[in-house]
Amino acid sequence: MRVLGIETSCDETGVALYDSERGLLADALFSQIDLHRIYGGVVPELASRDHVKRLVPLMREVFERAGLQPGEVDGVAYTAGPGLVGALLVGGACARALAFAWDVPALGVHHMEGHLLAPMLEEAPPQFPFVALLVSGGHTQLVRVDGIGEYQLLGESLDDAAGEAFDKTAKLMGLPYPGGPEIARLAESGTPGAFVFPRPMTDRPGLEFSFSGLKTSVLNAWQQCSSAGEVSAQVQADLALGFETAVVETLTIKCRRALKQTGLKRLVIAGGVSANQRLRSSLEKMTAGLKGEVFYARPAFCTDNGAMIAYAGCQRLLAGQQDVSGIEARARWPMDQLPPLQLKA
Ligand code: AMP
Ligand code: ZN
Repeated sequence: MRVLGIETSCDETGVALYDSERGLLADALFSQIDLHRIYGGVVPELASRDHVKRLVPLMREVFERAGLQPGEVDGVAYTAGPGLVGALLVGGACARALAFAWDVPALGVHHMEGHLLAPMLEEAPPQFPFVALLVSGGHTQLVRVDGIGEYQLLGESLDDAAGEAFDKTAKLMGLPYPGGPEIARLAESGTPGAFVFPRPMTDRPGLEFSFSGLKTSVLNAWQQCSSAGEVSAQVQADLALGFETAVVETLTIKCRRALKQTGLKRLVIAGGVSANQRLRSSLEKMTAGLKGEVFYARPAFCTDNGAMIAYAGCQRLLAGQQDVSGIEARARWPMDQLPPLQLKA
């Protein structure tokens, strides 16, 4: 089965063609980061309008790169949520219209399921069951995954998501959006131990996270340093390293706990923050110590992309699922509400 995947849940327009026999055929992405940068975050109305502009050229591009005529697909998958409703509606309307014109089924896909399954596009994909750490701009969750659609939430952030904490901390340090890659780059020249920030909620049992206090700790340190004059580039790098280390250690401690609690050995990390090199190294070390393994997608498929939606949609369309009513677009959508995948006999 060949599926066109469309992702428009936030500030990236992603389009891809996935074939269940041949794998990923082509993918293309337009990032709106430059459009939103001056506002310090995503402006929903601007995001929707830009998706309208980008979708058709990106679709033309993937069909051409795959050597296919537009419409040579067996289904269309689109992100139905969670996300910005206006942005989701652009992708959903486009997907439903094309599916109608091409007389193929359409299916709304859960964005976080897309992220969670993105490592399946790699050469050595993980086997089920596994524990997944979903770390994106909007979510920080630990999930037990027994199969597609078989998700048990083990713990999540009570306030800011990890990516959000990176973005907000970067903003208070005067760094551009998105903050994750900026902090990671700065942290490379930081002095280890110059700033030590708390590892929130690691001193008590459980798999919940809380990152908003950490951001406040960095703010206090930043204000203290700046009251003594301009914050030097070295102090900025030291703060970035202190913050990144605190987030990485917190995530590592909770992942270790989740593996121990479930008795599972495989850990999957997905979402934008899973591109973080320090996090990957720390989780590799931790899982090796438990004789386990960690899996992640290539950096381009950690952040939002069309390939993950084409893949997830293809699995569900293959199982016979498809949209029956209108365009699906949900701002919120708990992942454990998804139906398990039942393959057709
Ligand atoms: P997503 O919501 O999955 O598209 O991911 C976007 C989030 O990932 C934003 O909050 C980024 O700041 C964050 N991010 C992207 N790359 C990195 C990185 N290398 N380190 C930390 N956070 C990152
Ligand atoms: Zn995402």
